Amino acid sequence: MTPPPAAPASPVGEDSAYRLPRTVAPLRYELTITPDLGAATFSGDEVVSLQVHQPISEIVLNAAELEISRASLAAPDGTRHQLTITMVEADEQVVLGLPTPVPAGSATLELSFSGVLNDKLRGFYRSTFVDQSGAQRVIATTQFESTDARRAFPCWDEPDRKAVFSVTLVVDEGLTAISNAAVASDSRVEEAPAGDGKRRVRFADTMVMSTYLVAMVVGPLEATEPTDIEGIPLRVVHVPGKGHLCDFALEVGAHALRFFSAWFAIAYPADKLDLIALPDFAAGAMENLGAVTFREQVLLIDPAAASRAELERVADVVSHEIAHMWFGDLVTMKWWNGLWLNEAFATFMEMLCVDAFRPDWERWVSFGLSRGAAMDTDGMASTRPIEFPVGRPSEAEGMFDILTYEKGAAVLRMLERYLGAEPFRRGIGHYLNAHRHGNAETTDLWDAIETVTGEPVRATMDSWIFQGGYPLVRVSASGDRRALALDQLPFRYRAEGNGRGAIGSDWQVPVMLRAGVKGADAGDEAEQVEHHRVLLGPDGARVDLGGRVNWVVVNEGGWGFYRAHQYGDLAQALADQLGNLGPLERFNLVSDTWAEVLAGIQPLGAFLALIRRLENESDPSVWSVVVGALALLDRIGGEGSRPALQAFARARLGPAFGRAGWTAKIGDGERTGTLRATLLDALGNLGADPRVIERARGIHADAMAGQEAIEPDLAGAVVAVVAVNGGGAEYEAFLERYHHPANPQEETRYLYSLPRFRQPDLVARTLEFARTEARTQNAPFMVNLLLVNRDGGRAAWEFVKAHWDELLVRFPRNTIPRMLSGISGLCEPALAADVGAFLKAHPVPSGGRTVEQSLERLAVNLAFAQREGPTLAAMLEATL
Ligand SMILES: [Zn+2]
Repeated sequence: MTPPPAAPASPVGEDSAYRLPRTVAPLRYELTITPDLGAATFSGDEVVSLQVHQPISEIVLNAAELEISRASLAAPDGTRHQLTITMVEADEQVVLGLPTPVPAGSATLELSFSGVLNDKLRGFYRSTFVDQSGAQRVIATTQFESTDARRAFPCWDEPDRKAVFSVTLVVDEGLTAISNAAVASDSRVEEAPAGDGKRRVRFADTMVMSTYLVAMVVGPLEATEPTDIEGIPLRVVHVPGKGHLCDFALEVGAHALRFFSAWFAIAYPADKLDLIALPDFAAGAMENLGAVTFREQVLLIDPAAASRAELERVADVVSHEIAHMWFGDLVTMKWWNGLWLNEAFATFMEMLCVDAFRPDWERWVSFGLSRGAAMDTDGMASTRPIEFPVGRPSEAEGMFDILTYEKGAAVLRMLERYLGAEPFRRGIGHYLNAHRHGNAETTDLWDAIETVTGEPVRATMDSWIFQGGYPLVRVSASGDRRALALDQLPFRYRAEGNGRGAIGSDWQVPVMLRAGVKGADAGDEAEQVEHHRVLLGPDGARVDLGGRVNWVVVNEGGWGFYRAHQYGDLAQALADQLGNLGPLERFNLVSDTWAEVLAGIQPLGAFLALIRRLENESDPSVWSVVVGALALLDRIGGEGSRPALQAFARARLGPAFGRAGWTAKIGDGERTGTLRATLLDALGNLGADPRVIERARGIHADAMAGQEAIEPDLAGAVVAVVAVNGGGAEYEAFLERYHHPANPQEETRYLYSLPRFRQPDLVARTLEFARTEARTQNAPFMVNLLLVNRDGGRAAWEFVKAHWDELLVRFPRNTIPRMLSGISGLCEPALAADVGAFLKAHPVPSGGRTVEQSLERLAVNLAFAQREGPTLAAMLEATL
């Protein structure tokens, strides 16, 4: 095999221009911050205990968008110096100059500074909400990952410059103040004029930790009474009036705290845990030690009114962030190239934790959808290796994507299934104990698992981490059918174009397979099932069987991050085994077949024939693949094939929906509601089923009239069907409901229903709403949905072009590539060419790789449209 690129031991030399000099080490920050919420400013004082390693004449640290008014140093030799202050804006650094060199030893740096509470949702920023009296209120809050702590206080803003933080917040009487640690003292500011009502809230010292994990939140917030979880006080913090939406998050938080302390066999590393819901938040949530911040809709929820999927989302995010308290906060990556491991592992642990919380949700089965989405991206030449060298920290911004989270978690799951759960867990424990309170590289983790298990973990995982893409594992039977031959080649959606791009060449594939064989003994024709475990390398593998093979499942359990292709009658035999496959195995069969069709490896007819075999399918994830495929067929076929597509959708999805029914029944599984919603949405949209649309309208009207609430699992689908088929009256009603929701999930549901209306005037209205009124945390996702809107996509694209500069300024910059992912459905030749030309001339400030992937997906869809579009109607009719 071509060896994967070696792991860079230190991805960027410590003398790099982006890195701070190592002449001094910060040990402890005493921070006193006074935010002025009305004026949207803050001032701060900082005393940093330093270890000076060698004689110095200057100190360099990070600062951005700050005014530093005073800097002094108590030097190791007892002398005291005023320092000159030189801001180097381009590098986000400040150079503090000494009049004469000072020797090595212990020193104390003192700084005074001030800044602005910005509206960019990063650094120290402003979030606003309207309270119950109708007045606008302000919250000052922080979001530092990756490198925005420097916008709140001057610091050594690199993940391995860990220090203790002693935070004091000076706030108005009546406001709540929260930081990473418990409150140590809370007193009136004596020097303040009487009646000024300022309080000084001092928090206990944190453990040593990275700057990106510091949190400060000040505002008119309320908190639940603390619940004691094995000695740790757990609370949910929220804006007034939402206290009734906290119980579920507390239940999940308590479960996660107990689950992770036991799984890692290490105590929770902070002295309290606050889960804080914020009205404005650019990401989903952030793992600040002891003070985790969230978007409201992934924390505050009413279980009686929420769908199972919405509850699962809250459980996912809360579990993910709490996992980070150990993996990320206690043990941290050395530099940003290791960010993926933080996120991949937290995603893996999120699944494990939620699976233990509600086994009946079958969280690992539904994770198949996430893995499938990662494979969609990872089959593009414009993919990237999971880990890559990062110089400038801003390069790491591109790491917050599906390849880090979903592919990363999927390859960890593949490894865990291959090694066994317990050896894997012991390897992780070994790693965390060896590096607690410190920093580590990815390879340290593999080495720790290798030490515990004796398996070649590092070599195996390097082939998945340092090259992009994944293999197509091909299997065929020997002439006497008593052996299987396996080989691999890189899977890719486009054979043409400029080579493989970032897609690798070969992998160490941990293959688990199951085979049905006959004739193990002479005259014995009973079928027996065999299980095999093979590490498939570049030279292929041969698996000897105990008899003649009837059928084989190459990716047993469905955990492997690869696709499978079976030759000859094995493919037919597998399809005949559909009823004996597990849900993830069926998911993979459907997903792999569809991927091969998109890639031009198999004809569309093969996929349509497979759909016909799904008459007894009851797993919502399997149907999601089918629905996603039909949505693309709807785009490529246009008006000409639409009647055929609608008929096909009704014929294939209708019976499954009929079995699931409109309402919950005794004996339904926990995921049946999700199945019902998936099929209902598709029938009312792609299938244009008049009876489904009529009934959805009736259910919605009854709910609006206050007669009968919509069954929570169906609410999203009902709202979507009404929106897709709705006009001005429905639009007004939905907007009204968005403005006066019963809970954050309802608010989100109605907000994101607006981009699904198809009438041109309503599309235009929603675009304008996204540009001017919607919170910037949501607006980019509305534009994304409008780009995906079958009838509104073109108008949405024209809007993006017309307002490009404005959108770049207004929307959080990490959301721009996500907004643009909607372009992949604009698969008409002239439109696609326009999209490509515009984005080439207007590169995005960060996440350019994600945009390239969306453009390549557009090219794949366009090629598919040109290949299959002309004959689509005939083929659908023939398969009906
Ligand atoms: Zn995370």
